[in-house]
Amino acid sequence: MRIAVLSDIHSNLVALDAVLAATGPVDGVWHLGDVVGYGPEPDGVVARLGAIGATGVKGNHDAAATGGLEIEWFNPDARRAMEWTRTTISRATGTWLDGLPKTHRDGDWTLVHGSPREPIWEYITSVPVARANLAVLGTRVGLHGHTHIPAAFLEEDGRVEVVSPGDGSVLELRGRRALVNPGSVGQPRDGDPRSSFLVLDTEADSVTWHRVAYDVGPVQAAMRATGLPASLAARLSVGL
Ligand code: ZN
Repeated sequence: MRIAVLSDIHSNLVALDAVLAATGPVDGVWHLGDVVGYGPEPDGVVARLGAIGATGVKGNHDAAATGGLEIEWFNPDARRAMEWTRTTISRATGTWLDGLPKTHRDGDWTLVHGSPREPIWEYITSVPVARANLAVLGTRVGLHGHTHIPAAFLEEDGRVEVVSPGDGSVLELRGRRALVNPGSVGQPRDGDPRSSFLVLDTEADSVTWHRVAYDVGPVQAAMRATGLPASLAARLSVGL
């Protein structure tokens, strides 16, 4: 099976549609949370994911959007955007977000937003944190987001190797254990404004990262029109 894995869409429907148009034929779509927050179209993104039957998990922004205390930990711009999101989303969107699990397992694969041991909040950005999470990961491979930076931590003979993938990078897992991050669809932060995602191939046991450009201008215009913080709109142009 070929599965498209998307994370941190963040209410950016233009970016999501560009990614869905670029995945090629897939047997399913998995998302790793932070479906909403920051961007201008939370209802549109949730409706799209529902329409295509995407399977996924809850991120810190998704938890905050339905009234969770997570909002207390947000920086001022993220908090303003979340307060707007809370007042904007439909009841159906709220119900859908509320129903997302923190962890989802499918065969060899575990889906979380942050990390296997702390699925909502922990950032996996270092080898020690990756090693600790590989130790408690209940399946062979963990798929996670939250950092908005594509990456992988691959276990090899007791060592943990860091992978920094670009557009078109392929990682052959060959039965090895790993933590794999597709990067962000709606708000990349690695200096490349193009949406980031990956496609996993269960027969080949490989993952392939992709970048796809989308039209940032209309997203920024929609953010300005709704009064979302200007800095959140500006960062989409530079991918930081
Ligand atoms: Zn996020």
